[in-house]
Amino acid sequence: MIVVAERLSESAMTRLEAAGQVAVLDTCGEAALTDAVRRADALVVRTYSKVTASVIAAGRAGGRLKVIGRAGVGVDNIDLRAAAEAGIPVVHTPAACTFAVAELTVGLIVAVQRRIALFDQRVRQGEFASLRAEGGLTPELQHQTLGIIGMGRIGQAVSKRMHDGLGMRVVYYDIREIGYLPFAAQALASAEAVYAEADVISLHVPLTSLTRGMVGTEALAHFKRGSYLVNTSRGPVVQAAPLADALKEGRLAGAAIDVFDPEPPPPDHPLLSAPNCVLSPHVASRSREGLAAMNDVVDDVIAVLAGKSPRYVADPQVL
Ligand code: NAD
Repeated sequence: MIVVAERLSESAMTRLEAAGQVAVLDTCGEAALTDAVRRADALVVRTYSKVTASVIAAGRAGGRLKVIGRAGVGVDNIDLRAAAEAGIPVVHTPAACTFAVAELTVGLIVAVQRRIALFDQRVRQGEFASLRAEGGLTPELQHQTLGIIGMGRIGQAVSKRMHDGLGMRVVYYDIREIGYLPFAAQALASAEAVYAEADVISLHVPLTSLTRGMVGTEALAHFKRGSYLVNTSRGPVVQAAPLADALKEGRLAGAAIDVFDPEPPPPDHPLLSAPNCVLSPHVASRSREGLAAMNDVVDDVIAVLAGKSPRYVADPQVL
């Protein structure tokens, strides 16, 4: 039995159904997963299923679970260590939506820095002439520095586009040594050094014990006055209340946020009422091509079930 916790594309479902019996769950809460995984040979999840140690223990107790598939990028919703201890490989699609996320990030940077969303709202409210008369002109991005935290696939794709396309200088911090980059970028010694140097900071780290809450009061104190923060990584990387305060106090000029903690954000979430904050509903990966490539995780699930080698197995060491 292949258990699909969050429905996949028609094409992916058809491929799974050709490989075995498929059950699609109505909900993806821990109780439903724990119950279903006892009878599963494979479990396939997307973003909102939490594959905890107890879900994996139930799969192990059932004696059939051979593979967990994550259709998407970022494996923070799966306890990779528990899976490794149980000898169950976690397959995923790490390169599926690099360009989709990079493109939305570029759009968010331009949108927040040139106030596109705000202008759109206010032109509709009849403020065309008054907006043109207003001061507060923004500097061109070609004279600004982009700060990347996490120079992996997406960080690099964003940097390349912002550097080659829009002429931004790029500085970055990563916990690992980044080799050759096909664009000019300067590695700095710490995230704080990037916060202090950059006009626009864009987060591209995975959610781990190190990155959870990494942008909070202490980090924001290092940001340049009038800088911008863009988060298309994971909601819990940023502490929403201190960021909202920094925006209200004008210490930061704006923020663009694709990911929230929790999702969807409740009506009283601090960033929903923060000024100069451009919001999107965790859609950075959701281009037509990105979604198709994420659904291709089913091919690796089918490969494992058939005793073949999968293309992408998540590494528990990255946590
Ligand atoms: P990647 O693994 O290629 O790159 C992540 C980089 O972050 C690596 O170079 C890693 O060394 C670095 N890093 C890890 N911890 C760090 C830390 N504490 N400080 C500095 N750098 C650190 O991953 P990627 O493909 O670039 O994706 C990055 C993240 O983007 C994913 O993990 C996921 O959470 C998020 N994402 C979001 C969406 C969306 O729809 N909004 C879609 C895809 C991915």
